[in-house]
Amino acid sequence: MSLVLEGGCLCAAVRFHIHQAPLRTLVCHCTFCQRMTGSSFYANSVFPVDAVRFNAGEIRRYEHTSDGSGKKVYVEFCPTCGTTIGLAFERWPDLRAISRGCYDNPNAVDITSNLWTRSAQSGVALPAGIDCFATARSTAEGQPEHPSRYPKPVMAR
Ligand SMILES: [Zn+2]
Ligand SMILES: [Zn+2]
Repeated sequence: MSLVLEGGCLCAAVRFHIHQAPLRTLVCHCTFCQRMTGSSFYANSVFPVDAVRFNAGEIRRYEHTSDGSGKKVYVEFCPTCGTTIGLAFERWPDLRAISRGCYDNPNAVDITSNLWTRSAQSGVALPAGIDCFATARSTAEGQPEHPSRYPKPVMAR
């Protein structure tokens, strides 16, 4: 059985295909992700950087310096339609993120954790049975953080 994930941007100038399952798929409620998407949270899958194959469509990068780490986060987007394709990271050069909403079938991947729930917006519910982290998955020093697991969905605030 081989998983193939395909997707792209709104105008289809950028297309990608991926022949492996993501390392993890996250919902991030941090204020950077809220503003970047103009929405309540950002769902994205993390892959080894070379697992994602792109077509020749142009991708542009916006460099954002993270408040927390001081490292750069690269927002990758289609210059024609503005869709956020994903993220790349100065801190984790071997990894990249792909926006879940860009998959042709977003439900082909399951959410494995929620991050930065302490800044989740009102009206947002946190799911039951998966790891919910108040902040990041690990400290700046790389120590793992301890997630909550809710028996039932809970409102974020
Ligand atoms: Zn586009
Ligand atoms: Zn975030």
